[in-house]
Amino acid sequence: MILIGKCACGSVNYKIKDKPLFTQACHCNNCKISTGSSFVIHTMIFEDDFELNGNVESTLLPTGSGKGYRAYFCNNCGVYLYCKYNIAKSRIAIRTATLDKPLTPQAHIFVKDKDPWIEIINKDICHEAMYDRETTWPKESLRRLSEKENN
Ligand SMILES: [Zn+2]
Ligand SMILES: [Zn+2]
Repeated sequence: MILIGKCACGSVNYKIKDKPLFTQACHCNNCKISTGSSFVIHTMIFEDDFELNGNVESTLLPTGSGKGYRAYFCNNCGVYLYCKYNIAKSRIAIRTATLDKPLTPQAHIFVKDKDPWIEIINKDICHEAMYDRETTWPKESLRRLSEKENN
């Protein structure tokens, strides 16, 4: 399985060479600022599966945990393509809408901050804040993650 994506001007593109781990929409206030919109959709993948072509710049931004994350942007058009959380060593989060074929979120998080005019049809995948990964991610993704982290 190979997924491909790109920025708005096309000078940066990327490939994901294996199946993503999880896709989630976040409705928190930080994500609203960083997208200039109502939510972000992130697809978690292994950094080893990511192949980038083109020039990106990055900056360190704060997270709730205080550890921070590094966001990566096309150095021409400024589109924010992916980020790396300092607490997640082997993984990066792709901005799902930059994929040629966007993926459907498997969870919505920080629904407590969701804009009131958005109605999410599938209530079963809504979480007031963060979820517990062990009970939310598919078994296969949990297995792949534990294999990666224990190697
Ligand atoms: Zn660009
Ligand atoms: Zn968020």
